[in-house]
Parts: sequence; structure tokens; C-alpha cells
Amino acid sequence: MKIRVGQGYDVHKLVEGHPFWLGGILIPHTHGAFGHSDADIVCHVICDALLGAANMRNIGYHFSDKDPRWKGVDSKVLLAEVMRMIREAGYEISNVDVTVVLQEPKLNPHIPAMKTCLAGVMNIPEDDIAIKATTSEHLGFVGRQEGIAGHCVALIWK
Ligand code: MG
Repeated sequence: MKIRVGQGYDVHKLVEGHPFWLGGILIPHTHGAFGHSDADIVCHVICDALLGAANMRNIGYHFSDKDPRWKGVDSKVLLAEVMRMIREAGYEISNVDVTVVLQEPKLNPHIPAMKTCLAGVMNIPEDDIAIKATTSEHLGFVGRQEGIAGHCVALIWK
């Protein structure tokens, strides 16, 4: 059996009045993450961790922010496509572990819904998806609520 690990990292700007998509669901908040797609950082870091694990470049390589096809795209579509690519290469997912770094709002109440949503998109058990949230203790761009950061580690095997 071949086991591989991958890591993903992403940052998006927070903009007042913008819809806040995270983990495939809409989070009620004054600000939302801004980007070429729907800027769902949880989906993006999972994509990058999976692509890294399979040595298949990164999300920007496959879904360029210069390509109008991906303008405003639901990142669940990108994640589903990455899953298709990973499975086509013969891999299955062991687990993914996501950390979101965000000052506000508190994400804990939303994490079960994110896990349910992503388990459906990825077609893996909810138990194989961990989503954790932390603040940056009011330090830096996250602390000033100018942006959101995300990290993910993924384990795949074939
Ligand atoms: Mg991104």
C-alpha cells in the first residue's frame, strides 16, 4: 500500500457585506471572504492538500483565477473535481484535518453542518473530516479582521 500526505494553505481577504462561504455553507456574518471563486477557504485548503498528496500541482494550476469559467464558482464544484482526479489516479482518502484561522465569528456552531456538507461532496464519512477553528489572538491581518487563513493536512492511499 502506498500512503501519501499533503498540506494546503490559503488566505482570503474579508470584505464587508460579502457572502461568507466556508466549508460549503453560508455563514451569517457582517463580512465575507473575497476571491475569484466563492472564496471558500475550507474547500480550497482541502483541494490543495489532496493535490499535494497526489503530487498533482495546486488549485490555481487546475482552476486559474484568470479563467472566467471559475469566476464566482461554487468551490464545492472544484472540490468534487479534485476528488474525481484523485480517485482517477487510484487514490482513496484516509482523512483530512483542517484548521481555520479567523478572529470572528465563532465557527464551532457551524462545524457539524460543514462536515455533513463536505462529506457529501467528497463522498467520504464525516468521521474522516476534521474542521477546527482558532483565532490569532487579535494579532496580524487575521486579528485585525482583514482576512482569513486556512491550513489542511490530508492523507491518501492506494
Ligand atoms: Mg483560495
